[in-house]
Parts: sequence; structure tokens; C-alpha cells
Amino acid sequence: MQTLLEVLQKTEAYFAKAGLERPKADAQWLFAHVLGCRRLDLFLQYDRPMTDEHLERLRPLVRRRAQDREPMQYVVGSTEFYGLTLKVDRRALIPRPETEELVDLLVQRYGDAPPERVVDLGTGTGAIALALAQAWPNAQVLAIDSSRDALALAKENATALGLERVGFRHGSWLEPLRGPVDLIVSNPPYLTAEEMQTAEAEVAQHEPHSALASGADGLDDLRVIIAGVPQWLKPGGLLVLETGIAQHETLRELVEAAGLQGFESVPDLSGRDRFVLARQA
Ligand code: GLN
Repeated sequence: MQTLLEVLQKTEAYFAKAGLERPKADAQWLFAHVLGCRRLDLFLQYDRPMTDEHLERLRPLVRRRAQDREPMQYVVGSTEFYGLTLKVDRRALIPRPETEELVDLLVQRYGDAPPERVVDLGTGTGAIALALAQAWPNAQVLAIDSSRDALALAKENATALGLERVGFRHGSWLEPLRGPVDLIVSNPPYLTAEEMQTAEAEVAQHEPHSALASGADGLDDLRVIIAGVPQWLKPGGLLVLETGIAQHETLRELVEAAGLQGFESVPDLSGRDRFVLARQA
């Protein structure tokens, strides 16, 4: 029987040959998933024999990663987001580290005075809504998505995390709203047509385009959101958006044209324009 180390090394070599960017990390991640342990624990059991059952479970997953170029998070079916374990699959975009920065920005800004009514537009996996609900136990959080598939996934995540107090509504952007809120947050699709064409296979072939692409300049959905926000924000209420990296000049104009105040452009950790904040007068 082959040992864990032998099969791990073969898988890593296969991943490298297939052109994956992080063959070692991906192989370790996959093995930890199949063996039901942490990545760190693999090093302590290198001599462990790999059973036929293990190999049979590994094989299709290795193929999905190397040949089909499925993102690791879809292959193992989960990801970490701001301390939460979220189920992820093709129904929604895989939450990115930038979006964790967005949540952290909000948690820091509000400090010990969190908003009462919060809405997350285009919730996808539910990442932002669930992380904010976890951080703010007394907030009423509503998650909206135009994809029923994404909403079903987000609800599964809410149930698994014991965050059933988060509400869910189906519809396009602000359309399902019925009353004013203190905070509107969104990570809408914002990639330009060109960025979409040059996106890596993992993204372009597996993640939902409706969560990524937004017209030629990537601003189609941001335009709709910004125009609709003033109707639903309470006085002093905040709009916080994740955006593309070359959109802030235009976004400032859109935000000001909508009558919102205090436009702020905040960079992500790699220094690129990424978040937009604005306030209702
Ligand atoms: N940041 C994502 C990417 O580059 C895009 C997410 C989005 O459009 N909201 O793949």
C-alpha cells in the first residue's frame, strides 16, 4: 500500500505538471479534506497507508482541480470567511479576502455602536450578511439576491451557523426593500468586459458570471444600486460598496449625482482602490 507521503508527492507533481499555481498547497488542502484532518496534521502521518477507499475519493477531486480547473473551494465545498466556515458551490461566487476587508472596515467603523437595520445586496453565499450578523448580535440583517440558487445556499449557511435571524429576500438589488435602513452594503459584480475576458479559468469557467461581470465598464450594477440607495437610507445612513480598481472617479460622480455625501475611496490591503463609502445627508 502507498503511504500518505507517496500519494501526496505524486499528486503535487501531477498538479505542477497540469500548471496549477500552488500545487503543494492544493494537494495538502485536498488530502486534509479527504482524510478529515487539518493540513498541519498531514505532516504527522506521512507513513500512514492510503486505503483504496481514500484513493477512490481522491481521484475525482484531483481531476476536478487539475483538468476541470475548478477552484479548490468548490472542490472541497467550503471556505473560511471572517472566522466563519461557509459552504460554497457553483451557485455563488467564492468570497474573496477583499470582502473580508470590507466586513472588517465596517466592524471597525461602527465599533461598539453597530447599526440596527442592515441590508446586504447580492449576498451570494451570504458571506457579508452572516459575518455582520455574527459581529452584531442585535442588528436586523437582511440578505437579498436575484439568484434563487444563491439564496438557497446562503440560507443553508445561515442554518449551519445558527444565524437564522438573518432574513432573506429574492429580488434585484434594492427592489425587495420595504423600509428604511441604517446600512446598505454590497459586493456587486464589477468586472469590466475586458477583465472578464482575461480572467483565469478557475473564475471564468466555474464561478457565476452574474456575480462577476457588469457590462463594458463593469459599472452597470453599481449604477443601479447607487441611484436607488437614497430612497432607502435613513438620514445619516451609510452606503458601503466593494468595487473594481479603476472605477472610483466615476463612482464619485455617480454618488454625488445621487445626492449622497461624504464620498470616501478606501484602498484594499494591496493598495488598490477597492471600497466606496458615502452617507445619506
Ligand atoms: N474580486 C472578484 C474577482 O476579481 C470580483 C468580484 C466581484 O465582481 N464582485 O474575481
